[in-house]
Amino acid sequence: MDQQHLDNWLKKRKERRENFSVESLFRELTSGSREALSLCITLLESTLLSDKELANDLIQRCLPLSGRSVRIGITGVPGVGKSTFIESFGKVLVNKGKKVAVLAIDPSSGTSGGSILGDKTRMQELSAMKEVFIRPSAAGTTLGGVARKTRESIFLCEAAGFDVILIETVGVGQSETMVHSMVDFFLLLMLAGAGDELQGIKRGIMEMADALVITKADGDNMKKAQIASREYANAMHLFPPKSSGWTAVSFTCSAYNNENIDKVWDIVESYTNTTRLNGWFVDHRKLQDKYWLTETLKEMILNEFFEDSELMSKLEQTETKVYDGQLSSFHAAEMLYEQFNRKLKAGK
Ligand code: GDP
Repeated sequence: MDQQHLDNWLKKRKERRENFSVESLFRELTSGSREALSLCITLLESTLLSDKELANDLIQRCLPLSGRSVRIGITGVPGVGKSTFIESFGKVLVNKGKKVAVLAIDPSSGTSGGSILGDKTRMQELSAMKEVFIRPSAAGTTLGGVARKTRESIFLCEAAGFDVILIETVGVGQSETMVHSMVDFFLLLMLAGAGDELQGIKRGIMEMADALVITKADGDNMKKAQIASREYANAMHLFPPKSSGWTAVSFTCSAYNNENIDKVWDIVESYTNTTRLNGWFVDHRKLQDKYWLTETLKEMILNEFFEDSELMSKLEQTETKVYDGQLSSFHAAEMLYEQFNRKLKAGK
């Protein structure tokens, strides 16, 4: 958790110790208070067991009110222009009467406290707007943990009445997969002329994109950006068709000149119309629910195993036997699993 948020949270809890309750927090949240939303997300991020219970209760109450927003994932390498784009795009959305929440998944937040997307000076004008809520990436020991908190934060934002949720991440691989598994529409920002390898964008990530937008199409860069956009459009034609029935598009934009920023929203609307009609929009969210259910379960089972000291010392002994050629890896795994299973049954 961000130190400032933690301090804020502790201060608020102290102030509210008398009348703090999930009911009152939920009431404030659903009245659209950004302060309550911020507090609720902090509760979600807290590692205290008592807070976890409160957070579960809160999420449970929010679920019937959630699901009404459009969730958009935005990714691209550092420097591609994500925050400048979100600043312009967010303003376009506010002008259209939308309430916009911006959340981030910073894959470095587990190790370095969130340096890639944590810059406080980002999106200054947007963050000052009352229709906008911006939250830096949650911290966590695993990317999965960070992502799970972000996914739950989406429900809170929706319960607070935000109708467009932007989830930003940085183009380094696994975090895109996480973001992709919680959004309706996936937007990939690319630089012209930098080369795919230089941008570290893997083909798999390009295949996930519903729209690929070449940023900074202004001044001397305009021509290069248009050429790049055409090349990407050609490359995307070779990708297999998407289960959503949507055909990915590629175009250029300039956040500096506000060029084609509206178009991004038009494309998102066209996407939601298409996929609501063919049923994918709803089916996709169900698939995402299933994904998070099984992923969380897997992580819990893994933790149960790897946090058991007895099993860990058994694992060490077994490893030695495997190295010495006395046991095969598979047989060793079966033996360990049996011991795990026995412990589980005994603990019933
Ligand atoms: P991020 O790291 O992906 O969030 O990228 P930033 O939004 O911080 O932008 C990186 C750099 O590109 C900054 O110096 C911006 O001023 C610049 N930049 C962003 N958008 C544009 C644009 O539309 N045109 C031009 N020419 N530069 C831009």
